[in-house]
Amino acid sequence: MIKEYENFEVWFITGAQLLYGGDAVVQVDGHSKEMVEGLNASGIIPVKVVYKGTANSSDQVEAVMKAATNDAKCVGVITWMHTFSPAKMWIKGLQALKKPLLHFHTQYNAEIPWNDIDMDFMNLNQSAHGDIEFGHICTRMRVQRKVVVGYWKSGEAQKKIAVWARAAVAAADAHDVRCLMFGMNMNNVAVTDGDRVEFEQRLGYHVDYYPVSSLMDYFKKVSDADTDALVEEYKKLYTIKIDESGEKVYWEKVRNAAKAEIALRRVLADEGAKAFTTNFDDLGDADIDAPGFVGFDQIPGLASQRLMQEGIGFGAEGDWKTACLCRSLWVMSRGLPNGNSFLEDYTLNFAEGKTSILQSHMLEVCPLIASDKPKLEVHFLGIGIRKQQTARLVFTSKTGCGTKATVVDLGNRLRMITQDVECIEPKPMPKLPVASNLWVPQPSFEVGAGAWILAGGTHHSAFSYDITAEYWEDFAEMMDIECVCINKDTTTSSFKQLLRNNEVYYMLNKALK
Ligand code: MN
Repeated sequence: MIKEYENFEVWFITGAQLLYGGDAVVQVDGHSKEMVEGLNASGIIPVKVVYKGTANSSDQVEAVMKAATNDAKCVGVITWMHTFSPAKMWIKGLQALKKPLLHFHTQYNAEIPWNDIDMDFMNLNQSAHGDIEFGHICTRMRVQRKVVVGYWKSGEAQKKIAVWARAAVAAADAHDVRCLMFGMNMNNVAVTDGDRVEFEQRLGYHVDYYPVSSLMDYFKKVSDADTDALVEEYKKLYTIKIDESGEKVYWEKVRNAAKAEIALRRVLADEGAKAFTTNFDDLGDADIDAPGFVGFDQIPGLASQRLMQEGIGFGAEGDWKTACLCRSLWVMSRGLPNGNSFLEDYTLNFAEGKTSILQSHMLEVCPLIASDKPKLEVHFLGIGIRKQQTARLVFTSKTGCGTKATVVDLGNRLRMITQDVECIEPKPMPKLPVASNLWVPQPSFEVGAGAWILAGGTHHSAFSYDITAEYWEDFAEMMDIECVCINKDTTTSSFKQLLRNNEVYYMLNKALK
């Protein structure tokens, strides 16, 4: 069991009715138990599935849905209609349910027992019919849900449930995420700003300003012994690479970076925060040469890299939306092999047949996506209030397919955008000592990058090799926000039409509910 998922469960509720007699319900109950045991035993679904019995009446449905809504461990509900379950009996329960819903269209038996099938068998095994009735009421009531179709023992069907379960855990986690902004958004930047009240109402994330002066109070109190201990940890984890800064400056800067990391960790722990942002213009006292100076002597990029690796969401330049998404991305991808990171579209590489985009940041790329052991380096960084030698982890990233995601504020709603990308091998960049990734947007650089711009996407994104658009789509539906996905099937004209259609849909959506 994945540690971060241990305290969560999804509930499995089977729809039935008493029309066919109590014996039928006993059989339905037995089948359901066996199926839930099977779902748990396969090891594909990373969250425990808990069978909650059959729901045979409107009162029973309402009671179990209210219980799910109020249960802190329950992150979502799976429903399945073994027999015909008249859907008016689901109305009050669906009104009460405030947790993500997955409708599993499956059946206990795989093949029809051709020689033995009779009317009793048909009446008992009626999900073909009952699931359609249930689906109708969900659609009629505009209930957001994922519909998974497939035999319950099928790995493909279980993988789709697993995707939803991971998104449901991230949605529950988002409800408890507090993001601290150390400094404000970078001046004048539109896309990283937005409505934090709407953001909390829809997605659950709570974003607060935290005074940099208070962070500096923590920084001042970090002891030499604690700093030395952390530097020793760096030596074990990373390749020490001393270049033009020289040994003395190198260790001084690494020590100060370690001190900053300790201060940030302590503030985040004391404040119960799971995400944070920084601003390169707001790092303590302005003048580093003034007597009594208190401040970070460099952008705390090394700390951001290392905290991201542990699941603390990060957004640079005050980008609180991406910081929160990075936290959720980390939660969704627990136990998956290839990693995730905050990234930024930096530089285009126009090349015959393989035009790509260099992803990087000044410093803050998460080592989870590294293809090799990170090197701890110190180099001059001439951006922001400090123009200083600055510590950072340097690496290149794995190659292969991945997906980036963002959320933007369109004024009348939040829009999630995902884009599938293919990460490719870069050429050596000896004069660019920062972590990076090089990718080609799908379906092509021209169509993919164009669609991202038309959708109003950010230059920052939350990227993963493991978490595909399907996860984000499930997550966005749980939050009831728009989600547009750019992938191998995207064409410019169909994507433009999608954006136009969504303008109307989201205008009418509230009126329909
Ligand atoms: Mn940036």
